[in-house]
Amino acid sequence: MKKWVEHLLNLLYPRLCVACDDLLEMNEQYICTKCLYHLPKTDFHLQENNEIEQMLKTWFDVCHASAFFFFQKGSPFQKLLHELKYKGQKGIGLVFGGYVGTDFVLADKFTDVDVVVPVPLHPKKLKQRGYNQSEWIAKGIAEKLGKPIDTEHLVRIVANKSQTKTFNAEERKKNVENIFFVTDTSFFDGKHVLIVDDVLTTGATIASCAEQILKANNVKISVVVLARA
Ligand SMILES: [Zn+2]
Repeated sequence: MKKWVEHLLNLLYPRLCVACDDLLEMNEQYICTKCLYHLPKTDFHLQENNEIEQMLKTWFDVCHASAFFFFQKGSPFQKLLHELKYKGQKGIGLVFGGYVGTDFVLADKFTDVDVVVPVPLHPKKLKQRGYNQSEWIAKGIAEKLGKPIDTEHLVRIVANKSQTKTFNAEERKKNVENIFFVTDTSFFDGKHVLIVDDVLTTGATIASCAEQILKANNVKISVVVLARA
């Protein structure tokens, strides 16, 4: 009987895997078990001085950093990120943030952070999209870590700044200055902050956030992103 209802529901409201388009089983959310198994996870959280930490250290003094999976253009997992960012599927952020948080708890990594801070969208963009995808990833992570999330103190004041990989170190640092603003730096005093974003490419956006948060006293910053481009 249960199986029959399940089939009927799937016929009426087909839930499809965001990677392969196969019908999902009742216990699957957004992604089928097969695709989840094939997700190219980085396991960087188990690796000291991993490539993301090395990259971010060229920008600022990062404590720990990780990415959940590697992503390449045209891979089935590109659709997952696209749905999360542009198709209103914010639940993907929550579910995958949950996977990230579970890995951290199991490995006892990032468990000493005090607050989880998603990279904010510009208010205009937020209004347009209706949600901040990074906030939903952060929610999933924070829930598993049992830590608070803060979306009040770090704000985006510049909507769009193009980021070009061909800039030299000096130019790219200039290019991302003052995109974000911290409303009350003392909020971050003495805290270990975990910055969360969806995709990491050059590290410029994260660095721009960190630049502002580091104005607080005795603050530590770690970083986690869903995908490493
Ligand atoms: Zn699938």
